[in-house]
Amino acid sequence: MDSPESFRKEAHKIVDWIADYYAGIEKYPVKAACKPGSVFAAIPDSPPFEPERMENIFGDFESLIMPGMTHWQNPSFFAYFPANASFPSLLAEMLSSALGAQCMKWETSPAATELEEAVMIWLKKMVGLPEGFEGVIQDTASTATLCAILSAREKSTDFRINYDGFRNPAAMRIYCSSEAHSSVEKAVKIAGIGRNNLVKIGYDDAYRMKPEFLEAAILKDIKNGLKPVCVVAALGTTGSTAVDPLEDIAVICQKYKVWLHVDAAYAGSALILPEYRWMLAGIEKADSFVFNPHKWLFTNFDCSAYFVKDSETLINTFKLVPEYLKTQIPEHVNDYSNWGIQLGRRFRALKLWFVIRSFGLNGLQEKLRNHIALAGELKSWIEEHPDFEIMAPALFSLVCFRFHPLDTDDTETLNRMNERLLLAVNETGTMYISHTKLGESYTLRISVSQTMVEKKHVKNAWDLIVEKALSIS
Ligand SMILES: *Cc1c(COP(=O)(O)O)cnc(C)c1O
Repeated sequence: MDSPESFRKEAHKIVDWIADYYAGIEKYPVKAACKPGSVFAAIPDSPPFEPERMENIFGDFESLIMPGMTHWQNPSFFAYFPANASFPSLLAEMLSSALGAQCMKWETSPAATELEEAVMIWLKKMVGLPEGFEGVIQDTASTATLCAILSAREKSTDFRINYDGFRNPAAMRIYCSSEAHSSVEKAVKIAGIGRNNLVKIGYDDAYRMKPEFLEAAILKDIKNGLKPVCVVAALGTTGSTAVDPLEDIAVICQKYKVWLHVDAAYAGSALILPEYRWMLAGIEKADSFVFNPHKWLFTNFDCSAYFVKDSETLINTFKLVPEYLKTQIPEHVNDYSNWGIQLGRRFRALKLWFVIRSFGLNGLQEKLRNHIALAGELKSWIEEHPDFEIMAPALFSLVCFRFHPLDTDDTETLNRMNERLLLAVNETGTMYISHTKLGESYTLRISVSQTMVEKKHVKNAWDLIVEKALSIS
């Protein structure tokens, strides 16, 4: 298939297939039901020597791959946080693949670089970040958090570790709540700081970091000759969407001159709603902020928005310009490969641009408010049922709850029952939920945030949960 005409023919078929897929997406089991190893076993040991016809390749996609897919775009996908796609996003992704551009530097793709700069300014305004912040698109929040921790490491040592490696004997210390995402611990490992130097701070009854515990931990470390370098605060933890008290944490970070990174991977999208701006109080004292349009802003995976107050520190941490990359670029344009880890970069700004323009801020706000209202309804059904209980405040569109029949109070028994309940509902293939542990309690999580989710999907999910709970108790 090497002519534009044969491509046109195949592409039309695939676009039709995609439209049919979305039209009939509820026919597929939400969670893949395939056996571990079954897809691998179906793929030949060796690659084909002769070219194969697209018809055959596509046939195998349908018969071998599709049955092994979990359908994240199914409106009854309630697990984890979503990885939301939308049609405008898909269209832009097609164009981005078609251009096949590698957007490492301004010169290698001027429009991609300048559009990225422009849409990051749009996003900054949409979520209400202060003027000074500058944005860059990263693949994921994990990468953005790693960039933040590396920047904090370098800033605190006058960029010496970049040159000499670790020589200073004082161990660096990083802080986050015990409910923070695992990507913080991963970043601490990668940055050479060592996971034993990640201090996990206790939380209050709503799973929010306790600022007084943070200050005590910092003081203790200083007394012991250790060096506090960075605090990661979460706006919307992964377990229960708890919002750490940013203002109080920010004051402590300023007092001890510690980098403050804000991880708002999922809940950051809610900042486009004025009624959620309270979360941002104190943000002007933060050094960096990340949220994922690929979670709750209808921009298909991957697309993470990373903002920094001082882009010079970020660039000084990462910049490296070997001879073969030197260009005569004007001073005032950005080379985003110096704003992060990877050299080569995809054209991700295009899909954000398509999404924001196609929905409009108003359309995006409506969609989020609808999700939040649906989650609120689900929460009220759970509260009204005598055998279920809410496990954490539901501030956004995630509801944490568990089955708790009146005659059972033993934690272990409840944990096992809820684990069985999760398996039972997911096995039906009609919905997919996930879990977490809050304290010692196995907790079910329903994230009502899929692009296409409607009230009927939430109602069906709740009815099924109640039905299955009866059968396991
Ligand atoms: C999902 C999530 C992450 C990780 O996001 P990736 O983009 O997959 O790396 C980090 N932090 C929080 C709070 C999250 O919910």
